[in-house]
Amino acid sequence: MKSPIRTLLPALLALALCGCGTAPSAPDGHLSDYVSTLVGTESDWTFSTGNTYPAIALPWGMNFWTPMTSDREDNGWTYQYGAHRITGFKQTHQPSPWINDYGAFSVMPFTGTADGKPASWFSHKSEVAKPYYYRVYLADYDITVEITPTERAAVMRFTFPKSDSSFIAVNPYRDGMVLATRREATGFSVQNHGGVPEGFRNHFVIRADAPLLETFPTTRGQVVTLYVASSFISSEQAALNLKEVEGRSFDEVRDAAQARWDEVLGRIRVAGGTDDQYRTFYSCLYRSVLFPRKFYEIGADGQPVHYSPYNGQVEPGYLYTDTGFWDTFRALFPLLNLVYPDVNAEIQAGLANIARENDFLPEWASPGHRNCMVGNNSAAVVADAAMQGITSREDLEVLYRALVHASENVHPTVGSSGRKGHEYYNELGYIPYDVGINENVARTLEYAYDDWCIAQVARLLERPQEEIARFEKRSQNWRNVFDPETRLMRGRNQDGTFQAPFSPYKWGDAFTEGNAWHYTWSVFHDVPGLVEAMGGDAAFTAMLDSVFVVPPIYDDSYYGYRIHEITEMQVADMGNYAHGNQPAQHMIYLYDWTSQPRKAQQRIRETIDRLYSAAPDGYCGDEDNGQTSAWYIFSALGFYPVCPASGQYAAGSPLFREADVTLPGNRHLRIEAPGNAPGHPYVRSIRLNGKTLDRPFLDIATLKQGGKLVYEME
Ligand code: CA
Repeated sequence: MKSPIRTLLPALLALALCGCGTAPSAPDGHLSDYVSTLVGTESDWTFSTGNTYPAIALPWGMNFWTPMTSDREDNGWTYQYGAHRITGFKQTHQPSPWINDYGAFSVMPFTGTADGKPASWFSHKSEVAKPYYYRVYLADYDITVEITPTERAAVMRFTFPKSDSSFIAVNPYRDGMVLATRREATGFSVQNHGGVPEGFRNHFVIRADAPLLETFPTTRGQVVTLYVASSFISSEQAALNLKEVEGRSFDEVRDAAQARWDEVLGRIRVAGGTDDQYRTFYSCLYRSVLFPRKFYEIGADGQPVHYSPYNGQVEPGYLYTDTGFWDTFRALFPLLNLVYPDVNAEIQAGLANIARENDFLPEWASPGHRNCMVGNNSAAVVADAAMQGITSREDLEVLYRALVHASENVHPTVGSSGRKGHEYYNELGYIPYDVGINENVARTLEYAYDDWCIAQVARLLERPQEEIARFEKRSQNWRNVFDPETRLMRGRNQDGTFQAPFSPYKWGDAFTEGNAWHYTWSVFHDVPGLVEAMGGDAAFTAMLDSVFVVPPIYDDSYYGYRIHEITEMQVADMGNYAHGNQPAQHMIYLYDWTSQPRKAQQRIRETIDRLYSAAPDGYCGDEDNGQTSAWYIFSALGFYPVCPASGQYAAGSPLFREADVTLPGNRHLRIEAPGNAPGHPYVRSIRLNGKTLDRPFLDIATLKQGGKLVYEME
């Protein structure tokens, strides 16, 4: 006979264990406090767990601040988690250590003599690293430093010890200048690594309630507050930008910064996970809303105005920068289009301004054209926004002309803007392997997808049918570098023969930071065509499986050394799957086009659980300006934009039992996965607003109306 108490006990125990009744757990308090800005900072040039720095900033802010551990001002690895000493606090605009910084300058308080470079031991135990607030204790000087940001300014608070020789140093970097008149310092930084015309300056102004650049006595616990702002336009504009913080206390600015972060992060609320998962999710969301950054300022008339790195003039309107479209067209821009379309509307207006200020859209901007990566993926960035109705008709006409121009031209000095090899591509349908243009298969595949994107915009603008048809025809050029014998993408010579000897394990060469196993899937816009070319469902699925099954062997002879992306693939123990670099990041979702979408669900959850965390080594390769984070955000929600500009997401396996996305117009998309649990990634069926989907694809326009998306888990 069962006693009532014994039947009740398991239920009571379960309640006590999960700390909840029917409602799943959810983050408590400020979402911004779930963010660690240190994720990805345990990196160096040989091995990247993110290659990030702890950006102290507002979302999309013009200026970020970071503590520095490097004693070299031009070291892209400005802050490394394993370092012991802080060397300064830098206003930074660096999108990636490989691109490096521009317009940077730094501040450092210390006590004692001013000769030599100040540096102090510190510990992560006495460090607080949040987006809206940073604090560290400089042990050698007994000084506590605190920083809080606005979009173009910041407030710093230094708490000094008793000392007869305290000092606040300002470093304007090489060839820059700083002048101090006791409590105000003005100057400029000219630091850059290209991407700016002659005469580029970042003008800064610092006001403090203590002397700057000279020795002064302090009492124990004496607090010195600094107000710092800068402008790419003029010193007068820097003084205007300082109004973001002037007259406000440190705590007021910090509380406002936290409220802004809570609002931006709060557009996506998740529940029914663990605290570690919430930390990872919101740390990834933080990284997804930093870049591209605002490069415009607000003039005396209250209107947006910008210094143009494209023509050296001060121009009206918006401008954003510091992103590489090769990375961010994939998921970062689609995430903006879903959750933050108002921001992407400004970014698109800025791209139209760029098209008015010079002949080319950037492919890698920092702040102007930088020569980096391949492809012409500005087409995808423009097309995805246009297809979602984010871009004004007037701007879209301007942008379309720039896209068409790029399809027939290459930038005269920056080979990655426009299309290198366009003559071959437009005539032969591919860029040959043997004509001296590197990474030719990667370029061909991306141009083909980019042409498909241009065709979408052309149709939207009701361009002549023959123009639409020209781009549609070119969008099939991926077929010209597909080798039916190996079922892989492969270099092709000018005479039509495939390149030999061929190794699918060879990185670079015909590809970009990847091999044939990674690039074969770069047919975002015609997955059914790729399935058919490979020989159908079974053959295609076997090839996808093979990426995970083949050993992580590699040929690095093109580079002459093992590039960090190779190492990051190897250590993941997922065969040749290289999630740490962008070309492969959509690959898992291609199982949705086969008879085995369960394999997508399993691999997505494996990648989420294995390769992401909120620890300092929490990424599995370069984070790259929100792209690798946006993969996580989408995947944790349960879908992914395999083909930007298609209007469709491929479904995966949601991580949380509940999520709520606030859409424009205060509509809500509710995502529910009742019964979701670790280790159970499989989805039995998906219902959108009560209607069961036949296939694992979601119509974005329908989702953006709001409603309820339910994943029935197995
Ligand atoms: Ca990368």
